[in-house]
Amino acid sequence: MKIHEFQSKELLKEYGISATHGIIVDSKEQILKAVSKISNSRGDIQYLIKAQVHAGGRGKAGGVKFANNGKEAVGIAEKMLGMRLITPQTGAKGKLVRKILIHEAVKTEDIKREFYTAITLDRKQSKNVLIVSAEGGVEIEQVAAENPDKIVKLTIHPGLGLRDFQIRQIARALSLNKEQAKKAAQIFRALLKLYLEKDASIVEINPLVLTSQGELIALDAKVNFDDNGLVKHPEIAELRDEEEDDPVEVEAGKYHLNFIKLEGNVGCMVNGAGLAMATMDLIKQQGGEPANFLDVGGGANVETVKNGFRIILADPNVKVVLINIFGGIVRCDRIAHGIIEAVKELELTVPVVVRLEGTNAVEAKELLANSDVQIISADKLSDATAKVIEQLRV
Ligand code: GDP
Ligand code: MN
Repeated sequence: MKIHEFQSKELLKEYGISATHGIIVDSKEQILKAVSKISNSRGDIQYLIKAQVHAGGRGKAGGVKFANNGKEAVGIAEKMLGMRLITPQTGAKGKLVRKILIHEAVKTEDIKREFYTAITLDRKQSKNVLIVSAEGGVEIEQVAAENPDKIVKLTIHPGLGLRDFQIRQIARALSLNKEQAKKAAQIFRALLKLYLEKDASIVEINPLVLTSQGELIALDAKVNFDDNGLVKHPEIAELRDEEEDDPVEVEAGKYHLNFIKLEGNVGCMVNGAGLAMATMDLIKQQGGEPANFLDVGGGANVETVKNGFRIILADPNVKVVLINIFGGIVRCDRIAHGIIEAVKELELTVPVVVRLEGTNAVEAKELLANSDVQIISADKLSDATAKVIEQLRV
């Protein structure tokens, strides 16, 4: 799960890490109020207006803007709210800006250095890593591609955490003096604590800046979470901004369906993640493209089948639906009932290929054959995928 920058910064604050904070705004009426509140607290200031979308690279795309006075700030904020922001991470359609963060900017002349810092899981090592770079800011992807040696990656010991010698190593890499290194160590340890305690999948501060006053402050923050850990953290689950997620995936989540949207045109409904992946492989091998991954789980019933259908058919790209259920605990005749009911209720306009195998498969096939719904029955998985491809060509 992703959260917004302003929420990530609140979390940093909870763990004692300094960050810039501001006022979050989601309507035009609130803009003026927010700006005057900020200007009341100080006189001669620069404002920063930041689009809150679940994507990075906002700076270069026009989603992070400075204003020299209150009037300018209001103008920029009004324009930004409601715009579509297209960054390298949003895809071509971009993201609608529904919320913006307005705050006093740290003065550019007060920023001495910009660092990149992150903690995430290194899957190859099966261990967490701390990644830092003295070349932080908006070009970190470029640094990674062109000067990977400027990025330092340290493995975090699962039992011992960050060790003193590693802190010294980072201090050297970032050319920090003793006092700065001490502050940095506090930040890295706090960041690791946050990452572990909240079951994050990544915590990233880019940039973490060193000011002329010798302070280390996060100007941007990103925290993503492992969805499987959310049951342990209701306070984190609450931060979900459903408007930022794919609406179909949100709906699937409500029905406890494991759904991932893809770009193809064959809608797939399968029970079990392994079978789902095998099904997708076969479709691809025979020249088709899956429109989604959908695992209806081991306890599939009439309702799951109906909801699965609804979600698959919400995608206008879908030209054929393939249902592939292996009845273990699940009884195929029940699934067949579900399919018949769903097809009747939803008035399908695309062909549906069904392969039911396992417990009560024979009864299921009879049910489907004797029903008056238009279903293409298949025997083996390869037969099913072949029939799907055939339908695509019709
Ligand atoms: P991103 O482009 O989505 O990563 O957005 P950031 O929040 O990182 O903003 C982009 C860039 O704006 C940062 O890399 C900083 O260089 C700069 N920036 C962000 N906050 C401030 C601030 O308070 N003061 C100044 N002077 N620059 C800032
Ligand atoms: Mn950033």
